[in-house]
Amino acid sequence: MMKLISCSSWVEVNIQIQMNDQGFTTRVLHTRYLKNDPHGSLHMPVYDSVAFEFDRAEDMELTFLGRKQDHVYSRISNPTVENLEQIILGITGALTVTALSSGMAAISNLLLTLTETGSNIITSKHLFGNTYSLFEYTLKPFGLEIRYADLTDANAVDKLIDNKTRAIFLETITNPQLEVVEMKVLSEIAKKKNIPLIADTTITPPYLFDSKKHGVDIEVISSTKYISGGATSIGGLIIDNGTFDWSQSNKFKDEAIKYGPFALSVKLKREVFRNLGACLSPHNAYLQSLGLETLPLRVDKSCSNTLAIARHLQGLSQVQSVNYPGLTDSKFYEISKKQFGEKPGAILTFDLDSKKQCFIFMNNLKIIRRATNLNDNKTLIIHPASTIFCEYSPETKQQMGVRETMLRLAVGIEDKIDLINDINNTMEIINN
Ligand SMILES: *Cc1c(COP(=O)(O)O)cnc(C)c1O
Repeated sequence: MMKLISCSSWVEVNIQIQMNDQGFTTRVLHTRYLKNDPHGSLHMPVYDSVAFEFDRAEDMELTFLGRKQDHVYSRISNPTVENLEQIILGITGALTVTALSSGMAAISNLLLTLTETGSNIITSKHLFGNTYSLFEYTLKPFGLEIRYADLTDANAVDKLIDNKTRAIFLETITNPQLEVVEMKVLSEIAKKKNIPLIADTTITPPYLFDSKKHGVDIEVISSTKYISGGATSIGGLIIDNGTFDWSQSNKFKDEAIKYGPFALSVKLKREVFRNLGACLSPHNAYLQSLGLETLPLRVDKSCSNTLAIARHLQGLSQVQSVNYPGLTDSKFYEISKKQFGEKPGAILTFDLDSKKQCFIFMNNLKIIRRATNLNDNKTLIIHPASTIFCEYSPETKQQMGVRETMLRLAVGIEDKIDLINDINNTMEIINN
């Protein structure tokens, strides 16, 4: 009973923040925090406070029982963090949003909520390096089975599902392979077998991709990337679209009776997230909500820069191949266009002749920076095989599609011509 009441307060939040027909940017800027600020502050201030005081012991009891929604302790909830969560609710129309200390915290908290020893998940080997490491080296020893499949092969996925399967996990555009699967197809299989479809949408966050429309039940995002904007802070998000019927799941049947569509969110927020303690700091929540305000402007610019650079690289003799789903000759062009429109993220990869050439190229760039982030405002370059994937054997790298000759460019919002000139000048050095 008590938890039902706490769920209904989430319902209230959703009704009040409900999506309206305003545009994305207007909603980002004008989704209001549910409590008025005593000073009329236009920005949610940074509530750098661990604990929150109550006027009466009775209110304190009700809050601890979950019958009243107030902030108690910042590991559990905090006004500045909740403000960011409410803006994300406002732009996605999701059921619940949980902000965490990093993208990896989002993925690990979600999987620890959904799975148990002896259960399994289905995913691809084409994963962000640390996600693969989390699955293979951290979660597997606890008895979670990781079933790898070619997610573009729907039949193969279907065959791997059994009554211990807890989720299908994918990345919308894999990094660094830039592979795109048709999520509607996987979603139909997942629905038929009563398991949720999880997508890591870091490279295509809300604005670029409407996850609900494409059958994704739960989204995880590294808000470190596009959302933070200027690469100011680490953060992560779990977005439950509320589309999965937990009464049909093998694991959440009992919770579904008590909490209905909130079954997963209750277990996450009231247990796993609270107990693991990977909360987002209020200061980072502040920086990320500020970053979010300019997301559409930055995404438009970086995506158009990426397409221009991809086309330019295709015309250079030193470049063996260019991979970007926005190129019409990419094998993922059509499916990518269907899901992400004309802006399939701001990451491209290209191959030179050798690892040595890749290093010479990197070392001579003047504007493009050597660093391992994505969706910074600045353009960044990395040689994935010798860095993010350095701990894996040549065979594993091959299975992951990580070649020694490949460079990854995470394109920023600089003036296009300066980036192209930097590339041209550096290619001339390779020639000599
Ligand atoms: C960066 C990244 C992560 C991890 O996020 P952190 O915020 O660095 O923990 C997960 N998935 C993808 C696709 C990423 O690019």
